[in-house]
Amino acid sequence: MLFSGCGYSNVASESFESMDTFMKIDIYGSADTAAEIRAEIENLDSLLSAQDDSSEIGRLNKIGSAELSEDTADLLSQALELCKDTDGALDISVYPLVEAWGFIDKNYRIPGESEIDDLLKNTDYRKITLSGGRAYLGSGMKLDLGAVAKGYAADKAVELMKQNNVRAGILNLGGTVAAVGEKPNGEKWRVGICDPENTAAYFGSVSVSGKVVATSGSYERYFEQDGKRYCHIIDPKTGCPTDNGTVSVTVISDSGTKSDALSTALFVMGIDGAKEYWRSHTDFEFILLDEENTLWLTEGAEAAFRMNKDYEYNMKVIKA
Ligand code: AMP
Ligand code: MG
Repeated sequence: MLFSGCGYSNVASESFESMDTFMKIDIYGSADTAAEIRAEIENLDSLLSAQDDSSEIGRLNKIGSAELSEDTADLLSQALELCKDTDGALDISVYPLVEAWGFIDKNYRIPGESEIDDLLKNTDYRKITLSGGRAYLGSGMKLDLGAVAKGYAADKAVELMKQNNVRAGILNLGGTVAAVGEKPNGEKWRVGICDPENTAAYFGSVSVSGKVVATSGSYERYFEQDGKRYCHIIDPKTGCPTDNGTVSVTVISDSGTKSDALSTALFVMGIDGAKEYWRSHTDFEFILLDEENTLWLTEGAEAAFRMNKDYEYNMKVIKA
């Protein structure tokens, strides 16, 4: 469903695991370019992983300040802008909370109120400084670029395609999909959106060209206790897994970093906050599925969306 490369002799593909997810890239270009893109993504992973003590972010988290490579500094600076612009719904300093809830070592647990309150004191992206390629964290803070890294990787990959004169391709970086150019028959790419209840299926798709489509969902990583689901997206205001009736958010924009950041941030905002945010920033489109099976779509998203048969979500269009 994601691409139709079969039969075209000049398709080069790479399938690999990186950034904690499965990735597949298909480009109408050379095998060398595909390999170069893969190497670039793997390199970014080794710089950005908070779980790896030897990565740049790992070292920053351990020592509290570090010299950053150009890419890491570039992403950090874009991410801080997006934290500010989303009024902290995206907050790249939530890592200690992500750890406390057990999402890193998979020893899931519900931390006590005082533990959460203590960790919240060190959760504030405004206490991160980036100056002259060097980053500084406030005490007790840890960075986590997991919400934006795949999007940034998509942007870098698209850049590499341009440099190598590759006109078209589809890059699926595990829930963040860059659709470059068009299919050989001139049609736009169709990017599927995961059915949260059966992640092997898609409830629908969007028809896009030159866009990055990123989805954040509570089905991606979660645990259940006493019949309640706790998902991996933390509300930085409460220090707890986001629990506002949102099931998944898909964002479509020209920038991978933006699509990835906003899919996480709009998930935290919930439908009312997401609508308001969209109305003041119309440079992206979104699709939000809630627990009532209502599918909220901005006007531009609705124009690109097609629901698959067998799905009967109640569609509501959000107008500017
Ligand atoms: P995504 O899958 O892009 O929505 O990113 C989710 C990941 O980002 C989580 O696994 C955490 O590592 C991290 N994260 C969780 N909540 C937030 C948040 N509110 N702001 C920024 N990063 C977050
Ligand atoms: Mg994200």
